[in-house]
Amino acid sequence: MKIRKITLNENEIPEKWYNIVADMPNKPLPPLNPATREPIGPEALAPLFPMELIMQEVSAEKWVEIPDQVRDIYAMWRPTPLYRAYGLEKALDTPAKIYYKYEGVSPSGSHKPNTAVAQAYYNKQEGVKRITTETGAGQWGSALSFACNLFGIECEVYMVKISYEQKPYRKVMMNTWGAKVFASPSTNTEAGRKILAEHPGSTGSLGIAISEAIERAATRDDTKYSLGSVLNHVKLHQTIIGQEALKQMEKAGDLPDIVIAPFGGGSNFAGLAFPFLRLNFEEGKNIRCIASEPTSCPKLTRGVFRYDFGDTVGMTPLLPMYTLGHNFVPAPIHAGGLRYHGAGVIVSQLLKDKLIEACSHDNLEVFEAGVLFAKAEGIIPAPEATHGIATAIHEAKKCKEEGVSKTILFNLCGHGNFDMKAYEDYFAGKIVRHEVTEEEIKKSLAELETPEIG
Ligand SMILES: *Cc1c(COP(=O)(O)O)cnc(C)c1O
Repeated sequence: MKIRKITLNENEIPEKWYNIVADMPNKPLPPLNPATREPIGPEALAPLFPMELIMQEVSAEKWVEIPDQVRDIYAMWRPTPLYRAYGLEKALDTPAKIYYKYEGVSPSGSHKPNTAVAQAYYNKQEGVKRITTETGAGQWGSALSFACNLFGIECEVYMVKISYEQKPYRKVMMNTWGAKVFASPSTNTEAGRKILAEHPGSTGSLGIAISEAIERAATRDDTKYSLGSVLNHVKLHQTIIGQEALKQMEKAGDLPDIVIAPFGGGSNFAGLAFPFLRLNFEEGKNIRCIASEPTSCPKLTRGVFRYDFGDTVGMTPLLPMYTLGHNFVPAPIHAGGLRYHGAGVIVSQLLKDKLIEACSHDNLEVFEAGVLFAKAEGIIPAPEATHGIATAIHEAKKCKEEGVSKTILFNLCGHGNFDMKAYEDYFAGKIVRHEVTEEEIKKSLAELETPEIG
């Protein structure tokens, strides 16, 4: 019998997170205060995040101990399986060996609980009673609801109104774990009330939802805010994925030539790729790590590297990142988790230094890849995850054309069981090719008043 599934025991869950900053030749540039353009210190973030997470955000320590209680909770679903994709290899008739790490076995169905649990833990340690956040597609909101419940922390989720109405099951999931979910714009906040007064019919946006969640946290002593992507500490927590995958690849007697993950703000990409990049830094290996983004939101492949706000409204510090401009509004593609205008700071610096690569796929191509994968391997991927699959298929086809066998590893970062609307639209022919025009990108970038990076 061929070994399809490479598993680890619970006691093989890594004991530390890997902080790639320690190994980066060029360290990330500091965040800037938008008013003074001076670097901000950790204390500026104290109203929003617990101190331990702020320290992780600016840390250059190579290894960060995972608290026992967090590891205990990880064991509810970790170590996650790593699969050899024999079915997909056969369907593609490729000489390439394809593996995937499957994060869809977590309670909320994606990689997001890896950081949600860690963040809830540090908030609990510092006596926080309530955590607020925003959610678009619902993946992050459900992960944080699950995590907060385990620590007896109240969770308040601002869900973009249009998703709130179109994705009722994600909302019910959050309610099941005890979270309060509000359609944003809501009447709970100054920001929400202002929008509603001006636009009573507003269907909301991620930018508005972020403003509401931040306002709640900033104006209450017992309340903090939480983000599910982009930030350094989020990427740090996700490195549990790649460290497990590395052990599993060793167990399979293989090492990937190419590591691939879908890219929204960079957390699942960082999670899988950084522990393999460590081998490039430490042992001179030459593993290619490729971030895969949609052509309708191409910040890595067509954006610019400069300082920009992390949110639409301009409430965050200025961050040095690949961006399309914080006013960029991507097409409403089903891969909601990939519709973010910028890339996390660490990943941006790595791309600038050519230590990682990026590519993009259009909406139709990724659904073709997702359905092919579901038929060959059984699991129905989240729309976000189909981007990584499309890149893996592209590389596997190249192997066939060139007659070489390479080992490919990709991150299947979530299942798509709550995304049947997306698949229904695909089968009904409603998914169309979409690519941003040069004019749209130029226009959005022209609105930036933030400093260029020389
Ligand atoms: C949130 C999400 C993403 C995008 O976020 P990253 O931080 O780039 O990982 C991708 N896939 C799934 C399934 C998600 O839930």
